Amino acid sequence: MQYSHHFAKNSSIKFIADCHLGKLAKYLRLLGIDTLYFPHIEDDELLRIANDEDRTILTKDRSLSERKKAPVFFLEEKETQAQLKTVIDHYKLKVQPSPFSRCIVCNTPLQIIEKEKVLDRLPEKVKKYFDYFEYCPSCDRIYWRGDHYRHMKAYLDQVLES
Ligand SMILES: [Zn+2]
Repeated sequence: MQYSHHFAKNSSIKFIADCHLGKLAKYLRLLGIDTLYFPHIEDDELLRIANDEDRTILTKDRSLSERKKAPVFFLEEKETQAQLKTVIDHYKLKVQPSPFSRCIVCNTPLQIIEKEKVLDRLPEKVKKYFDYFEYCPSCDRIYWRGDHYRHMKAYLDQVLES
């Protein structure tokens, strides 16, 4: 089977999502899975990056999936939740050990940072109620486990349990 080697070491699976799969890419990053995404990218460039970086292309474009110039996983599903479920099941990603470890905007692994170091950048309410922070060394975003995190986690739990 074409993808069998990924079952044994799914934590090292890397994806590049086509331009229609931005939401899916975000959720995969939230699960800690290395997923590149560019809103505007030519097919040839997508194929080049996939080959250079040993990434599997996630695509809704059947013609791209039929070119077979790089590992491609074709997604028929229209809804993000269904797409995510399909990818998780196919690559056995349920056992992924590192959720919430990657910047959902730029895909860089997050680092834990002390509250004192980001204090002046936090909204008042966040200062008051949160003590655990992570930040992205690439795009400098600060993450905390607030409402947005909880909503995304609830969504993921729902997908993982379905
Ligand atoms: Zn980032």
